[in-house]
Amino acid sequence: MKISSSVKVYEKYLEYLLNYSKQLDPSDFDKVWMNKYREVIDAKLTTFTLPLALALIHPDFYYKNGESFHNNPQLNWKKNNNFKNGILRTNKCQFIKCSGYECIFNKSREYKIEADHFWPNSLGGPTILANRLLLCSFHNTLKSNSFLNFDWNSVPSWLFNQLEIIYHLKR
Ligand SMILES: [Zn+2]
Repeated sequence: MKISSSVKVYEKYLEYLLNYSKQLDPSDFDKVWMNKYREVIDAKLTTFTLPLALALIHPDFYYKNGESFHNNPQLNWKKNNNFKNGILRTNKCQFIKCSGYECIFNKSREYKIEADHFWPNSLGGPTILANRLLLCSFHNTLKSNSFLNFDWNSVPSWLFNQLEIIYHLKR
């Protein structure tokens, strides 16, 4: 997909979110979403990354007429059977990607390698290969739902793609 068209859809979606939030009474906000919202706001993301993060965690990003987008086959958001496939014993823990530090267990292989979500699943991160981070079980536990080193430069391509699909579904 062309980036220019994705950016347009992204802008339209943000406009939609903004109008949507204006119509809501603050008491209508789902508690879970508010907690996610605070977590992202507290992280002091940039003017580029904050709207993307908000779009990711916004409940309307998942639901339409009470139906979860997760279940939409076009999005293939949650039920990606490949997510945990193909992980070998010889794979390396990619802790360096989310921390800047090399995994000290990569030589000893004390911990098994697991599929983690780079942008946390608890904050709306999809179970798609583009959002997969291979971590040893030690660092998977350590990272938990941290997103401090999330790579916004490369990853928004999947986010744009999802926004495009959702935008078209909404019309
Ligand atoms: Zn590790």
